[in-house]
Amino acid sequence: MGLLDRAGARLTSHPEEAEILIVNTCSFIDTAKQESVDTILEMARHKTSGSAKRLIVAGCLVERYRDEIQKSIPEVDAVVGTGELEAILAAAGLAAPVAAPSLFNILSGNGRTPSDSGAAPGDSNHAEIRPGQESRAATHKAEIAGSRAEGDLREQQGRFRRDDWQGATHLLPTYLYDETTPRFLTTPKSSAYIKIAEGCDHPCTFCVIPNLRGKFRSRRFESVVAEAQQLVARGVQEITLIGQDTTCYGEDLGMKDGLATLLDALAGIPGLRWLRFLYAYPNRITTRLLETIAKHDNICKYLDVPLQHASPDLLKRMKRGAGADIFLKTLEKVRATVPGITLRTSFIVGFPGESAADFALLEQFIGDAKFDWLGVFNYSDEEGSGAFSLDAKVPKRTIEARKRRLMKLQQSISKRAKQQWVGRELVLLAEGESDETQLLWEGRTQFHAPEIDGKVYINDFGDLEALEPGRFYNAEITEAHEYDVVARVVSGPL
Ligand code: SF4
Repeated sequence: MGLLDRAGARLTSHPEEAEILIVNTCSFIDTAKQESVDTILEMARHKTSGSAKRLIVAGCLVERYRDEIQKSIPEVDAVVGTGELEAILAAAGLAAPVAAPSLFNILSGNGRTPSDSGAAPGDSNHAEIRPGQESRAATHKAEIAGSRAEGDLREQQGRFRRDDWQGATHLLPTYLYDETTPRFLTTPKSSAYIKIAEGCDHPCTFCVIPNLRGKFRSRRFESVVAEAQQLVARGVQEITLIGQDTTCYGEDLGMKDGLATLLDALAGIPGLRWLRFLYAYPNRITTRLLETIAKHDNICKYLDVPLQHASPDLLKRMKRGAGADIFLKTLEKVRATVPGITLRTSFIVGFPGESAADFALLEQFIGDAKFDWLGVFNYSDEEGSGAFSLDAKVPKRTIEARKRRLMKLQQSISKRAKQQWVGRELVLLAEGESDETQLLWEGRTQFHAPEIDGKVYINDFGDLEALEPGRFYNAEITEAHEYDVVARVVSGPL
């Protein structure tokens, strides 16, 4: 969006007004794919009946099904994968196409766009290669390393031949943005996300994300710090660091405890009120990382650590390792080093081979661990993932029933935990009127990550006539429900 904005596009979120429609997609599990496809089809209708002249599909669905999108939805004019962000300008008609007149071209060479490598348009490394051209096969053979497993599988199954796989590049994306890349923030004015790394090298067998986002690579330390400084200068007071694998930050740059070092530097930026990171890998939660969270007042006492399961047998099949006993020790250390920390996790139910005993172990673990926030995902059987070929698939009805059981169990744990908050005075970020009723406002504490955790409803502004969205207030928690709490403003804005 930043690139489009800088190129002169006027952005709108109303599709009926748009001349160019862009659908940014997700495709890591079935429900995400379905939602993406439904949205593309909905936008395609605007193209036939509204003012839209061009429909572009971007993101992870393109990385997985580039050729299928082109073939099955002819209304789509161009596709832009996760590794070729700058191609969005040519797709939108705001810049000359980089390497070829059609965006359904095949990138040869190292799979980078010319702007990644500094190569000029027309450079032989980036020339368009038409299906069936000999150099395609040569390129393919030369560059098996870094190719995507899913494509390999589909080729083995005879579903396509690489040499005539229209429009697809078999190489993994390598793109990384930096502090000079323009950004157009859609988050409320006080909050922003910063992606500190891209891709993942873990081998989790249920996951196709490494196929879609590429190998793990960290952004330069100085680039992340510079971006955070720029955002704070623009009025951002809350920064959430994201990446598929944030706790590995810096490993590829030769840093030890890279994330802790980065947090230390960012916490020192004057004016930054809340700083957090999402998605810790369990065995990467180091003592130094925890001590860093504990040390800085402006680092939120919040840790999101997706554990996926608690049965050691199942975790082994998932190629993640560990199990309930090890996790409980880790959680004990986390809570001891960062007193009062809020913990979030997520689990997958119905992974192939999940027996009643595995599930019982997971239930027992959830009861023991007492997470503040917990998400449960149904196993999604994704081709290209390691688990796709595993036997002993669990029936859908069993998966649903297990999910319901876990959510019910967590409901009572969460309710008890939220009741402990009643009477506490906490700093609250006011977000605006509630979607549910104009009589209430919504906000978040440091224990609520943006958009994901329960809500804080504000039903009493204290002595204030009105609240301002994006400002911080002192508030007292007055009621607790299963996931949400109610608060009364005591003073502010801060
Ligand atoms: S660590 Fe996360 S992104 Fe990486 S393979 Fe495992 S589940 Fe997927």
